[in-house]
Amino acid sequence: MLTVKAYAATSATEPLAPTTIERRDVGATDVLIAIRYSGICHSDIHTVRGEWSSVTYPQVVGHEIVGEVAEIGSDVTEFAVGDRVGVGCMVNSCRECENCKAGMEQYCLKGNIGTYAARDRDGTITQGGYSTHVVVDKDFVLRVPESIPYEAAAPLLCAGITTYSPLAHWNAGPGKRVAVVGMGGLGHMAVKIASAMGADVTVLSQTLSKKDDGLAFGAKDYYASSDPQTLKTLRNSFDLVINTVSAALDFDDYVKLLRLDGVWVNVGAPPEPVAMRVFSLFANRRSFAGSSIGGIKETQDMLDFCAEHGIAPETELISADKINEAYERVLASDVRYRFVIDTATL
Ligand code: NAP
Ligand code: ZN
Ligand code: ZN
Repeated sequence: MLTVKAYAATSATEPLAPTTIERRDVGATDVLIAIRYSGICHSDIHTVRGEWSSVTYPQVVGHEIVGEVAEIGSDVTEFAVGDRVGVGCMVNSCRECENCKAGMEQYCLKGNIGTYAARDRDGTITQGGYSTHVVVDKDFVLRVPESIPYEAAAPLLCAGITTYSPLAHWNAGPGKRVAVVGMGGLGHMAVKIASAMGADVTVLSQTLSKKDDGLAFGAKDYYASSDPQTLKTLRNSFDLVINTVSAALDFDDYVKLLRLDGVWVNVGAPPEPVAMRVFSLFANRRSFAGSSIGGIKETQDMLDFCAEHGIAPETELISADKINEAYERVLASDVRYRFVIDTATL
């Protein structure tokens, strides 16, 4: 066992606080990673506050992890000490079900093992990336291209893949009109990636305060959802909508943004159930879909795509003692556009 520094939630209502946790010994197929940077995803906040389900405390969250390989197990040939690597939202899956075999471990029929707050094979609860080290099976470790700035690479492991996957699956590209709803961590990556894929991108944000940024990220148009005219003006306009909003929307109104055969993809994960009249989907033969992160091979493809297209998240580097403040700023939509923890400050 290795005792390492971390920042943990001790209850749904207390601020996160410094602590130490145990990491397992490096097994034959394991990689020990010295974490350098760890992104803050809104899912971390939903989780520690118990908004999705009950949580066993203390809980360390964080699933946007980059660092260097510090040790490898005896059967690991794919990685060497010093390699720059990443870990996203999963650390294992069954590897045998049809979804795992198809490279979509995120949809493992037995349930993938999340990087945090999940029951690991040894019965322990997984602890995430707000920590100095993590031990992960080699098959769930990604290579981070050198051309992506180090701290900017971290958010790709969740915000990047969660938006890349549906954009790739639903063929965002030239001639496709894509709307991105909510321009926070996921949203700003959706704008950059969809634009790099060649799609025509429109942002719907609550206000116009980030319009210049959105256009600089590649969007052609930018609208305020607080303006009652916006949803009317944009009705029947989009082939694909990527909704990244962390709260429930009035979906009856919003799905009307879709043109014929358009697809609404919810990646935002509000705790409340979605309520919608099916009639809102009848017109234009609309589809309402969800999408969860991405598979391991697809995550590597996304990292390589971002390296090739020079895409990187916009980050604000913080020390560990600013994590709680950063949470409040995320909740207030005051994030530009991803907080990343410098783990040297843990
Ligand atoms: P974030 O940085 O907080 O971004 C969410 C954005 O949604 C905000 O910046 C804001 O954008 C908008 N928003 C927030 N509250 C709103 C409201 N009440 N009404 C309208 N718009 C609102 O969060 P994130 O890290 O990108 O995560 C977004 C959601 O995706 C979370 O629910 C998270 O749990 C989920 N998630 C899902 C997956 C998956 O696999 N499906 C993976 C990662 C995260 P504007 O200021 O531009 O309006
Ligand atoms: Zn996430
Ligand atoms: Zn499986």
